[in-house]
Amino acid sequence: MAIKEAAEFLRNNDNFLLTSHVNPDGDGIGSILGMAGLLRQLGKSFHVICADPPQDKLGFLHAYNIIETFNEAMKGKHSFGAAIIIDVPHMDRIGATVSLLKKDAKLLVIDHHISCENFGTVNLVLPEAAASAEIVAMLYDALGKTFDANSAEALYVGLCIDTGRFRFSNVTPAVFKLAARLVEAGAAPDILSDLLYYNDPIETKIGLAKVIESIELHDGGKTATAWLDYNFMNSEIGKKMDDEGFVNQPLAIKGVENAFLIREKEKGKLRISLRSRTDDVDMNKLAEKFGGGGHARASGCRMDGVSIDEAKKLLLAALNDAKK
Ligand code: 5GP
Ligand code: MN
Repeated sequence: MAIKEAAEFLRNNDNFLLTSHVNPDGDGIGSILGMAGLLRQLGKSFHVICADPPQDKLGFLHAYNIIETFNEAMKGKHSFGAAIIIDVPHMDRIGATVSLLKKDAKLLVIDHHISCENFGTVNLVLPEAAASAEIVAMLYDALGKTFDANSAEALYVGLCIDTGRFRFSNVTPAVFKLAARLVEAGAAPDILSDLLYYNDPIETKIGLAKVIESIELHDGGKTATAWLDYNFMNSEIGKKMDDEGFVNQPLAIKGVENAFLIREKEKGKLRISLRSRTDDVDMNKLAEKFGGGGHARASGCRMDGVSIDEAKKLLLAALNDAKK
């Protein structure tokens, strides 16, 4: 039903703002580029604008150059009456691009976060979907369109990133079936895998060593914490590294079920990644306790005005409570 409504939304509107969350990642970017391909086939006009630049490592995507980064001057240029917002659980997460929308703008929200607040005029929110890219692909089918090569590449990247290279618990037969179709349409798994995962700046490796060095085990080895402090995060190395995936280091230890990675990017402001590999703890709920959210097995939150040690204690105590 929601699929039909979303397809109607695309048919009946035009001149879209196409956007994703702040600091857009592989699924956010892959999904909006995939959607851009679909809009083109529908003969629609659109602008792809995100609050922040996409991750550097996504620069290889063939459609990358259509992505614009928000700047204040855009406010004088754009006032969108319709928007497609992808991989975003609540309005705040689109950041400054919100100022490019008319007050009564119609919104199509496409998302797979369990915490999604359904803030659109039409909401296509499927928490069981592995990636937002999977939902965008469903819209191709609903509208009877086939993937062009660039869109296939972008959607494959979204799927690959949000399934942790096709290995998380969100991987279903449907994910592999879609992956196969995207490969048929031109996505090259070997090349994309190399570009995404075997192409690290040296700084990332040094950062990884730091994270591994910081690992501590708690709860008899069931929980692992790791951290990167302000000085390292703001060193030349820290600024150049890509820390996506670092949280998997503490998580990938034998016996570990839950992991927290704490990063202090700004003085006194912590960004925390929460991960679980069992159903015993809902990391979305745990992150919500601190004002964040995400998925049951992968979520994130921020903490201000506490030290890394204090954050560690707060997280471990909240985890303890959640298990009761
Ligand atoms: P990561 O730890 O990789 O940054 O984020 C993991 C998941 O948690 C992602 O799905 C992301 O959307 C979500 N997430 C991360 N940080 C936040 C946050 O501050 N607020 C909310 N609501 N979700 C977050
Ligand atoms: Mn996603």
